Amino acid sequence: MKIICIGRNFAQHAKELGNDVPKEPVFFMKPDSARLPKKAPFYYPNFTKDLHYEIELVIRINKLGKNISKKFAHTYYDEIGLGIDFTARDIQQECKEKGLPWEKAKAFDYSAPMSQTFIKKSEFKDLNNINFSLKKNNEIVQLGNTSQMIFDFDDLIVYLSQFLTLKIGDYIFTGTPAGVGAVTIGDQLEGFIEDQKMLELKVR
Ligand code: MG
Repeated sequence: MKIICIGRNFAQHAKELGNDVPKEPVFFMKPDSARLPKKAPFYYPNFTKDLHYEIELVIRINKLGKNISKKFAHTYYDEIGLGIDFTARDIQQECKEKGLPWEKAKAFDYSAPMSQTFIKKSEFKDLNNINFSLKKNNEIVQLGNTSQMIFDFDDLIVYLSQFLTLKIGDYIFTGTPAGVGAVTIGDQLEGFIEDQKMLELKVR
């Protein structure tokens, strides 16, 4: 299983970090060890002083594919869940400045908690109008809608599959909306798709 993450897929978020809005998707990977096991506590990593949340919709690949065409892209995923792309922003900044890869800032253990349940695609009326949000300590800090995505789910599948074989059980984190920010020990994070709570964790 691999976790592929899309960066800068919401224009407002790209801008808040001082990045250009991309003309093609930006992606990076997290290893399977980035998953937070069920019911495992989430601990603030000791190598960063600026850990950020990024709430993201996650699609699960359900069919093996390579060089997938736009027409068939929608048949390669059938469930949508929610995840947090935890980012050591201080380390990422260093990597960016030095022109180095981001893995140290993005791919560390438990950096990709995901909802236990995924929602069948067929349960959504319109995939281009899905609201999702993150609450920190009971206050909404991020609110996104799939209509704001620069590249939609199908575009991402087409693009990624040019480079990578997509396999059953792979996950794609599809990008975060504006509002990313720091967490501190003791913070409570809750993620929602529409009004449904999908994910909850406390930073320890
Ligand atoms: Mg992200």
